[in-house]
Amino acid sequence: MYLENYRKIVVKIGSSLIIDNKKKIRKNWLYEFAKDIKNLRKQNKNVIIVSSGAIALGCKKLNIEKKKLKIDQSQAIASVGQIELMNLFIDVFASQKINISQILLTLEDTEKRRRAINAKRTIENLFNLNFVPIVNENDTIATSEIKYGDNDRLASRVAQISNADCLILLSDVDGLYTKNPKIHKDAVLIKKVEKIDQNIIKLASGKTSEYGSGGMRTKIDAAKICEISGCKMAIANGLKDRPLINIFDRQICTWFVPKISKLDARKKWIASTLNTKGCLKIDEGAQIALQKGKSLLAAGVKSIEGSFNKGDQIKIVGKNNQELAIGLSSFSSEEIDKIKGYKSNKIEGLLGYKTKSEVIHKDDMVEI
Ligand code: GLU
Repeated sequence: MYLENYRKIVVKIGSSLIIDNKKKIRKNWLYEFAKDIKNLRKQNKNVIIVSSGAIALGCKKLNIEKKKLKIDQSQAIASVGQIELMNLFIDVFASQKINISQILLTLEDTEKRRRAINAKRTIENLFNLNFVPIVNENDTIATSEIKYGDNDRLASRVAQISNADCLILLSDVDGLYTKNPKIHKDAVLIKKVEKIDQNIIKLASGKTSEYGSGGMRTKIDAAKICEISGCKMAIANGLKDRPLINIFDRQICTWFVPKISKLDARKKWIASTLNTKGCLKIDEGAQIALQKGKSLLAAGVKSIEGSFNKGDQIKIVGKNNQELAIGLSSFSSEEIDKIKGYKSNKIEGLLGYKTKSEVIHKDDMVEI
């Protein structure tokens, strides 16, 4: 038995597990992986797979080098490769009689609350129908500005919105090391991380494979989102056959074991926003109020950056641009520009209409 304590598990597989560096599809590995997923399904666990590989398989089919691609070319190639990827999964999972479905997400599908809830419901309904959803970024639509760009953070956001309790990032590295193991022989694998602090962030540098977009840095970003959500996460080497069994037999991986989060689902979602639309710099008085759990008022706003609408996620920073919180703005950036520094009772006169008095209400804000 493995992963017995979890009920909803997200497994992310990187491109290097689907296709090797000689551009050969690792079909035997995928058959073994499907056996692991069957095992989890037999234990009645809900499983979501987040799989990369669309661009890599598209490149293989068209005999093109990934490194030379411009964004519009890779969008077209992902469109070719995504069907290759799903055909591969249909074949491999049929061998274990596992029903699969496809979900392609764009960044907005997790960053806009209504769309995130919609995605969550779709996933729940697929579980009810006894299907394993296979998720990828909708690379054909995504442009560089509105893109996850890596499936590590996408997988952690999927884990969060679906309220999963475990995320496993399978790639071609054993986990997080004290130094880059490809350069330093004395690098030691860190088996357990309880808190992601600056030291952990510093350890994550450099790219690790040719095909994957994510290096260790995006895996740590994913771990941070899992920390906010209270979801356990493992970084493990999936290159071995029966990768999931292997990890738990050999115990070679890095586990991120966060404390149970006291935040509700909406606040977890706010705190792990991937692309905030703007930033408010606040004064010391407002910072003290914020730390006491109070709302942010216009009087405490010193300056504003970015262009955003009412309801968008924005960052709040204090002295020396120290990041304090993320929240949903009650006003547009233009409105805040007019009311910043003023007492709440002046807002109606300044804007010419009646509005809320808080720039960000405490219920819409999370300290980070
Ligand atoms: N979505 C990309 C693909 O399917 C992969 C992104 C990544 O490597 O993390 O090719």
